[in-house]
Amino acid sequence: MTAEKGPGITAAAGTAIGAGTGTGAGADTDTATATPTTTGTTTGTGTGAGDAGDRGRTATFLIYLDACRYDYITRERTPFLHSLGERGSIRRARTVCGFTQESAMLTGKYPVETGHFTWFHLSENSPFAWLRPFCFLSFLPQFKLYEPVKVLIRKTTSLITGRAYPDPAHIPLDLLPRFERVDGDEIGGISIDSICRSSGRRAINLMNNNNFVGMKTCSAMFEAAATALEREVFDLCMIHIGELDVDGHKLGPRADLLGGHLATIDACLSRLHRAARRLGISCNMVIVSDHGMQPVAGTVDVIGRVKEAASRAGLRSPRDYLYFLDSTMARFWFPNGAARRPIEEALSAVPHGHIVTEGEKEERGINFRHNLYGDTLFWLDKGYIVFPNFFQSTYSDCPRGMHGYMDDDDGLLVLYSDSDSGAEAYRRNQKDPVPLVDIFSIVLDMMGVGPAERLGAGPSRRGGQPRQGSGRNRLEGPTI
Ligand SMILES: [Zn+2]
Repeated sequence: MTAEKGPGITAAAGTAIGAGTGTGAGADTDTATATPTTTGTTTGTGTGAGDAGDRGRTATFLIYLDACRYDYITRERTPFLHSLGERGSIRRARTVCGFTQESAMLTGKYPVETGHFTWFHLSENSPFAWLRPFCFLSFLPQFKLYEPVKVLIRKTTSLITGRAYPDPAHIPLDLLPRFERVDGDEIGGISIDSICRSSGRRAINLMNNNNFVGMKTCSAMFEAAATALEREVFDLCMIHIGELDVDGHKLGPRADLLGGHLATIDACLSRLHRAARRLGISCNMVIVSDHGMQPVAGTVDVIGRVKEAASRAGLRSPRDYLYFLDSTMARFWFPNGAARRPIEEALSAVPHGHIVTEGEKEERGINFRHNLYGDTLFWLDKGYIVFPNFFQSTYSDCPRGMHGYMDDDDGLLVLYSDSDSGAEAYRRNQKDPVPLVDIFSIVLDMMGVGPAERLGAGPSRRGGQPRQGSGRNRLEGPTI
């Protein structure tokens, strides 16, 4: 399905603090309109509806507009956001490499520290291990008939492992049992969530965790936030809006075509702000997109080229090499080392991309000490798509927009506060573009969370450790 988000297009991380009990698991379309909930883990000492209209109360909103390019915002298209930017601050946001931007925003850390980079990594404990006997059907994901099979695999894997939404994407069945998806529930270290929890602040999380982006309509998400304003006392409300990502992949980054959803989001934001003001609540607003969206210029058959060269050298997968094809990146592992040189030579001749250097990895915080994300990374230039890949099926239309490139400054950040102290807090950060990891401190600064309270927080979410596997010495590299 083309309307998913993630490495390429598929979607979304795990539940977070207060995550609604969305009905994403099990749903297989992006168009469902599940009613979001504001239940889940809220923290703090709020006393409920009676306090909701108290004068002097401040609510901070972290509104994550997935794939909202900075240049979508104009006076005509998005009058509220534009005016908010004029009164507050509007800048570009610089993404963090990979496909797990939410982790970077919520922790203030780069992938090497959170353990979250792309969606799938090599794993000795793959939830898909039960599919090993079906390796001979590796070709199945190329065909349309795979769609019901995919649902069956996901449901069976869920039953066997208890995982909420083990999406097999379009990973060939000979490779699938060797991979595992990053668990969004287990961001390593301290996050905005865990700091709220430990400092007695109340957080409501309306991120689309565990659900495909776009599953919950933006109106429903904003409505849930407005209801929470009236009925609950909270310090922070986090919302993830996915429509612009889904539209951007389908139509390309053309604001004229995305106008409908842009206008809806703008109107919803305006209504939310008005509702808060009516209740006498002072608002801090952090409106951020995690990345931009590039028009697709062409596709590159990376694996076709590699397989040709490998077979000439008598090498075959998975014996001599493993690979994973994200939408903009191809990753390779070399179990016995023999295939590295011929495959890297073949990659050097592939157009519109390059092998990522150690220096580039270090600069972007993806210099892992382990090889779970690959021994060799081949990244395409802006505008190009790895095709075929494991996220866009070969039988559906090629996307017209894509993100996931090495450098991307096309994200958006709008900051605004009704209070002088909130405005003062965000003015401390004058960077433009703002690195996505700075969202962590900007939100906490605006909420008035001091350094001592941040240090006092425990690990985030359920696990608290980067999910790098529980097997022996996994950080040093898996056995493949
Ligand atoms: Zn996307």
